[in-house]
Order: sequence, then structure tokens, then C-alpha cells
Amino acid sequence: FNIPVPVNEPVLQYAKGSKERDLLKAALEKVYATTLDIPMFIGAEEVRTGDTGSIRPPHAHQKVIANFHNGDKSHVEKAISEALKAKENWENMSWEHRAAIFLRAADLIAGKYRYDLNAATMAGQSKNAYQAEIDSACELIDFLRFNVKYMTEIYQQQPPVSPAGSWNRVEQRPLEGFVFALTPFNFTAIAGNLPASVALMGNVVVWKPADTQIYAAQLIMRIFLEAGLPAGVINLIYGDGPNIGEVIFKHPDFAGIHFTGSTKVFQEIWKTIGENIHLYKTYPRIVGETGGKDFILVHASADVKAASTAIARGAFEYQGQKCSAASRVYVSKSVWPALKEFLIKDVASFKMGPVEDFSNFINAVIDEKSFDKLAKAIDDAKQANGVEIIAGGHYDKSVGYFIEPTILVTQDPHYSSMSEELFGPVLTIYVFDDEQFDETLDLIDQTSAYALTGAILANDRYAIEKAAYKLRNAAGNFYINDKCTGAVVGQQPFGGARASGTNDKAGSMINLLRWVSPRTIKETF
Ligand code: NAP
Repeated sequence: FNIPVPVNEPVLQYAKGSKERDLLKAALEKVYATTLDIPMFIGAEEVRTGDTGSIRPPHAHQKVIANFHNGDKSHVEKAISEALKAKENWENMSWEHRAAIFLRAADLIAGKYRYDLNAATMAGQSKNAYQAEIDSACELIDFLRFNVKYMTEIYQQQPPVSPAGSWNRVEQRPLEGFVFALTPFNFTAIAGNLPASVALMGNVVVWKPADTQIYAAQLIMRIFLEAGLPAGVINLIYGDGPNIGEVIFKHPDFAGIHFTGSTKVFQEIWKTIGENIHLYKTYPRIVGETGGKDFILVHASADVKAASTAIARGAFEYQGQKCSAASRVYVSKSVWPALKEFLIKDVASFKMGPVEDFSNFINAVIDEKSFDKLAKAIDDAKQANGVEIIAGGHYDKSVGYFIEPTILVTQDPHYSSMSEELFGPVLTIYVFDDEQFDETLDLIDQTSAYALTGAILANDRYAIEKAAYKLRNAAGNFYINDKCTGAVVGQQPFGGARASGTNDKAGSMINLLRWVSPRTIKETF
């Protein structure tokens, strides 16, 4: 069976005077011009409860661009029962037809809805045009198309050996029950991929996005429905996370969770699942991509100018709110003076402001809670002994949650921001003696509990080889001479281990295999 061979979706550049820029600006104006009323999607119904929350652009928090209707426990129960009702027809639909729905959704995003979805991400999550384009357009489209490729490989695997007189086969069944998709604020692509990848494999889903991501999430849901997704296969609900969890994690048909978010929340959820394990019909699949404290190591042999670009972009694109963002950097002393000069210049060139002005590289951080946490970290650094602020250090939340890209240099490699995830535009640098390279590798490996992404910038091949080996458990995605962000679906399967997740690699066959439960059949003739 042939399906279109996926190619990564080309990235639009939104250059000045381009048609695509005008179309995106118009879509953004449309978002600001109306206050959208956003229902939940449960079964075939759009559900409005009147218990509403508001969506405000993080860069202009006095504006309300939408109100969404929160559900209570009864809505969670309804979402589960609608999912279970849809299950039989959905899992019996041939996989080619399930695939066709998600391929069509990818085409709808690539064409008809590209600007609307990018505008939703820009306004709702404060992403600049380019960051929105590589997320809500390209990465989401790639996830949908490449998942279909991996799915076909799973369903078309070579069967087991069958000696004469018998026929052995393996059938990939969907999980028994429903799957809960719990998605974070920072990537629209992740929001769409977590429920879609599970549903593609024949499962039914209850999906709860982060409150701050609902604007884009509801549009994705509408696109899935327009592409032909039958009612009840994915049910989109909003409300208080723990309250929703109360119903989900006590349900006997709970069959798995597809999570991306913080380590703390994932660990709480894992504990809850453990406590309730006797209630379930089947051991649930627990798949989670969580926090990071991602590093860049600059060796004495590195190209210093390129290192500055990699650090500045790796740390500050999307305000450092990518799970893969560089937040701790280790620099060889001999290259530090030159690197420091480039870095200060590079960061000073980043303009900060709202997303409507396309020349702004830095926009706002997601919400007040995050702003306050980052402002406190900056204030603490101002007071700390042995910590110098060499760039940024100012913040202002009067109009939007703006934090300047800030670089701290610490003399203490165990300073708190070398190990704790801040999830914002605050980068900490430690400068080490060139002769201490081996010790620095140990330091990187042992300082943080996380292991998501990391990079070495070097020209010395011995140094590269040593770092790749000694840091083999410190990052699920390791980069040589590149920044540690920007994984592309189909090229670098993404995910981390240790406290960064179960490393089931989003956008890969490994991930899709978590959403099936194989049955082996032996037939004797
Ligand atoms: P979060 O606070 O953990 O939230 C994730 C989701 O869980 C949201 O939908 C949230 O809803 C919900 N939630 C929060 N507390 C809950 C609870 N007690 N029970 C049930 N649900 C609960 O994460 P976030 O701030 O949105 O995202 C940032 C985090 O995600 C960072 O740590 C980042 O590193 C990580 N991340 C990791 C990856 C990766 O691939 N490893 C990718 C992206 C992001 P509410 O918003 O309504 O609370």
C-alpha cells in the first residue's frame, strides 16, 4: 500500500512586502478584532457551560481575545463515555482511512488554515511569526505526515517465521480503553500531535490542553473535524487539571497518558496512576516528555562567532520557553573574552516587543506566574556573590510579561540556575580552565537531574568524541556544532531521559508503538 512519501514542510519566511506576510497580518488582526467564544468538543457536541476563563495575549494582557468554557467532573465523564462510544467504529476503520483523515488535516493546515493557526499561536502564546511558522505550521504538518509513514511501517512489518503447517502473525491492536492527552502551552505542534498520534493508531482520546494554549488547540480540533475525524474520537475539554485528573485516573478504562509538560506534574500523575493501578483493566501506557536544563559546551577549539550565534539563538528564541532551550553554558577560558564580546553584541541586537511588529525577536513570557519566577531569579542573581549579569536584567509586566534576554555568569558551577529549570530567557554561563575539560564533562553530566538536549561546539575531534561518549546519558538529543534546539520531525526524533521524560521520541515509530498492544496469533493447518 503506497502513501505519499513525506517531505518536510517548507518554512515560509514572511519577508517584508511578501504576500504571506500580508496574509498573516490580516489573520492576526482578525484574532484581535473579535472575542472568540470557545466551546469544549465532546462527542458530536460543542459544549458551553458558562463557567468561562479568558485568553489574553501575554504581550498585551489587558486585551481579551477569547473566552473558553470550563468543564466540571461531569464533562470529563461525558468525554470518556463519548470516546468509548466512538471506539468500536474507529478501531475497525481500516488504517488507510484513519491515515487519510490526518493527511487531509495536514493539507488543511498547510493551505487553508496556515495563517489562522499561526496567528492563534502568535496571539495566544506570544510567538513571533517565524517561531509560529516552524511550530504550528511546519512541525505540526510534519508530525501528521511522518506519523502516517511510521504507521504504515508498523502495519506492514515482516510477519514472524511460519514453519510448514502453521501461520504465525502479529496483529497491532489499539489499546483497550481511552487515552488521556495532556498538552503544554509552548508548542502548538505538540498540542496537535499528542492526541493525533494516539488516535491515528486506532485509539480514542480525551484531550486537555494548557489553558494558555486553548486558542490554537480549539482551531486544531476544528481542523481535525473538518478533515473527517468522526465525533468522539478526540474529545477536547478544559478545566482545572487536578480536578480532571480525579476522574480520568480513577476510571477503569484509563489505558494510557500522552503527556508533555513539567517534570513536577508528570511525577505527580505517575504517582496517582500507581496509587490507582488496581482500578484499571490494563496497565496504562505512560508516555511523557518533561523538563530540561539543556547545555552547550564550548571547547577551546570552537569557532567563537558561530558559538555566539548558537548560544544566543539556542537560549533566547521563543524567550527560552522551548524545552530544548540552552540554559546552562560551559565555556573554555581561552575563548571566553572573544565569545563574551560577540554574545553581548548578538543579544543586544534582539528587539523585544509585541508579536504584531515582525521585527521583534523577543516577545513576552507566557503568564504572570512565569514572569514572577523569572524576575525573582534575576533579582536573586543581582544579590548573589560571584554572579555577574552581562546582558539584560530588566523586566516589566505593565503591558505584557516582558523579560529582557538575560545572561548570568557564575563562578559557582552549582549555582541554582545551573541545575533548575527556569523556562524563560535567563541563561547561566560557567567558565572553566581549558585543562579542566574532562572534569567539566563530569560536571555537566552530574549537575542536573534532566537529560533532554545538549551540544558541543568544537573543532577538535578528540574533544567531540570524548564529549559524545561521556555525555551519552546527559541528553536524548545531542548536537555537534549546532545549537541544541530546532529538532525537525523525520530528521531528529525528539525526547529526553532521566527527569526529562520516558524518551519515546515524538514523531517516530517508537512513539507510535506505545499506542498499540500487539496480539500474536498462531494458526495450525
Ligand atoms: P505544565 O504546567 O506541567 O502543564 C502541562 C499540562 O498539564 C497542562 O495542560 C496543564 O494544565 C496540566 N496540569 C498542570 N497541573 C496538573 C495536574 N496536577 N493534574 C493534571 N493536569 C495538570 O507544563 P507547561 O508549563 O504547560 O509546559 C512547560 C513545561 O513543559 C516545561 O517544563 C518544559 O520543559 C516542558 N516541555 C517538555 C517538552 C519535551 O519534549 N520534553 C516539550 C515541551 C515542553 P493547566 O495549564 O491548565 O494547568
